[in-house]
Amino acid sequence: MPTCEYGCERCGHEFTTVLTVREHDKARPKCPRCKSRRAQQAVSAVFVNTSRKG
Ligand SMILES: [Zn+2]
Repeated sequence: MPTCEYGCERCGHEFTTVLTVREHDKARPKCPRCKSRRAQQAVSAVFVNTSRKG
């Protein structure tokens, strides 16, 4: 099952979502915690969490 890991820039919440390629291409996932769309895909070690936690 295709899953993508994301990290929310706003609240720092990390979550995994299941997306089809088409969905992933056209829409960013919402953070389930703060409903922000400022979620960045966590790509291996490139993802740097610079947001404040809490
Ligand atoms: Zn969030």
